[in-house]
Amino acid sequence: MLLGAPGSGKGTQAEMITRHFGIPVTSPGAILRREKELGTALGLETAETTQHGGLVSDKIIVGLIEDWLRLHGAQGFVFDGFPRTVPQAESLQKILERLHTALDLAIWLDVSEKTVRDRIASRLQCLACGFTTSLTSAKFSERPICPYCDGHLVRRGDDDITVLQHRLEEFNAKTQPLALFYENSAILHRLDGNRDREAVFADISRLIGQAA
Ligand code: ADP
Repeated sequence: MLLGAPGSGKGTQAEMITRHFGIPVTSPGAILRREKELGTALGLETAETTQHGGLVSDKIIVGLIEDWLRLHGAQGFVFDGFPRTVPQAESLQKILERLHTALDLAIWLDVSEKTVRDRIASRLQCLACGFTTSLTSAKFSERPICPYCDGHLVRRGDDDITVLQHRLEEFNAKTQPLALFYENSAILHRLDGNRDREAVFADISRLIGQAA
């Protein structure tokens, strides 16, 4: 699982893991954005919370993850941005026990507040497939277009400075305590997430290789 503050690069690293190792990834944030776009009951119910940078209820998130694991998790899995609270981590433990499986790795991407602000100010995301890039690394002629599916690259609605403030407060209050939770179980590895994506991915690949 990949843990870290907003803008820590966990989404990008999760994509790279899937592409390189073929391990399926799930991200509650990406699922909720999709549901909102499709206008489903779940999307509408959670839109207000995600838009303002709050955390969605543990019950909803744990339900999503449990369903996803049953359908796609048999050959291994990566969680991007889950769990984000101690009750979510406790629920996950129970689910994994029921499925007779366990976590191999929890990777925590450490980033400075400056990195978070810089990345979020220039983040672009594909409306169609969710691919993430930045204004600085993408080279566009006129309109930003996804290199994978030709979808439109746009800024995320919650990548706004006041919403970011709330996301960081939620992270500090509810997600930081997970470091202690996983340190106790000895699967936690902290990486410097301020470096470029290739350097971080090299470290993640090494950890996955060692855990295999
Ligand atoms: P980021 O980490 O950059 O903030 P995500 O895509 O991981 O972006 O999450 C976007 C939003 O989706 C969060 O601000 C929150 O509202 C919701 N969300 C995602 N994952 C969780 C989770 N595990 N628990 C509660 N809410 C979540």
